[in-house]
Amino acid sequence: MNIHEYQAKAVLKEFGVPVPRGLPVLRAAGAVSAAEELGGPVWVVKSQIHAGGRGKGKFKEKEAGGKAGVRIAKSVAEVETFVREMLGRTLVTAQTGPSGKQVNRIYLEEGANIVKEFYLSLLVDRSVSRVAFVVSTEGGTDIEEVARHTPDRIASFSVDPATGIMPHHGRTAANVLGLTSGLAQQAEKLTSQLYTAFVAKDMAMLEINPLIVSTEGQLKCLDAKISFDDNALYRRPEIAAMRDETEEDAKEIEASKHDLNYIALSGTIGCMVNGAGLAMATMDIIKLYGAEPANFLDVGGGATKDKVAEAFKIITADTKVRGILVNIFGGIMKCDVIADGVITAVKDTGLEVPLVVRLEGTNVELGKNIIARSGLNVIAADDLEDAARKIVAAAGKT
Ligand code: GDP
Ligand code: MN
Repeated sequence: MNIHEYQAKAVLKEFGVPVPRGLPVLRAAGAVSAAEELGGPVWVVKSQIHAGGRGKGKFKEKEAGGKAGVRIAKSVAEVETFVREMLGRTLVTAQTGPSGKQVNRIYLEEGANIVKEFYLSLLVDRSVSRVAFVVSTEGGTDIEEVARHTPDRIASFSVDPATGIMPHHGRTAANVLGLTSGLAQQAEKLTSQLYTAFVAKDMAMLEINPLIVSTEGQLKCLDAKISFDDNALYRRPEIAAMRDETEEDAKEIEASKHDLNYIALSGTIGCMVNGAGLAMATMDIIKLYGAEPANFLDVGGGATKDKVAEAFKIITADTKVRGILVNIFGGIMKCDVIADGVITAVKDTGLEVPLVVRLEGTNVELGKNIIARSGLNVIAADDLEDAARKIVAAAGKT
């Protein structure tokens, strides 16, 4: 799960991390009082969307045409104008895709005077099963570009979970950034605070870009992006409460409410499958026969009729879907339960695209009978290959 920059900074502040003072602005009417409370003389007006590249992003609408998603204001009146130009408008950045994202929240901050911009992030490095730091002097820019063109300017080191964060990690970060004396001490403290926050809140990724040195000689986190481990959200209710559903795929949210593993993809064949391995095999074979999967949906091992029905509704609600392939290997999951769920969903919502069903395993005959007797226009398939060929033939190649 991702959160907004202003929420990420509030989380980091709890751990003592230096961030600029700021106030979220949710309605244009709140802009002036927030600006007055912060006091100026310079404010940064920041669009809050779950995507980076806002500083170089541009608004779509004519009224805000060509204006960026992060802007520096020099007066209260300017803050108000910028907020009005951003709220409700669509910001297109390198990370949003061409359709952009609507800005519904603004974060207003006191402006900082930047001497240097650095990059610093923490992530889970699966190859060593540790939390790793990525540090670079090339802050404020797109780190992927730095990795491509000047990879030697990026350093990385991981932390042994048995010892936790140590002063030498901080000194390494300071060395990479060329910081000495007071600033090196600040870097040491900051790395420790960031690591502590990362572990304490079950983060999956924490990115500070830019981390700056201000004219006052202070290290400060000017931008913050955090992703949390979804599997740990059950024990972090304070984090789960920050979820902004308007930033997420509506179908993925609906699926997570029903405890379904659903990922939206860009193809045309909706897949309902049990087990991640079978889901991957199904996607592969759909591609082999010339079409693209519209989703990855794993109903899991012990799904109920209602859960299957919800899964089916989520797939049919996707307007990109031109055909549906149900591919179930009944083990703990019984084929008749799947058949009942599919029929319940079709009765509730109708079915306007071809449906191919391949059932195998526990109660397979019962399941096939239920579907045959339902009067639904279902194409039966015998095995995975047969199923893939039939759905691509019925729905068309991509
Ligand atoms: P992003 O483009 O979505 O990553 O948004 P950032 O929060 O990183 O802001 C983009 C850029 O705006 C930063 O890299 C800075 O160069 C600049 N910026 C942000 N805050 C300030 C500030 O307080 N003062 C100044 N001078 N520049 C800022
Ligand atoms: Mn940034």
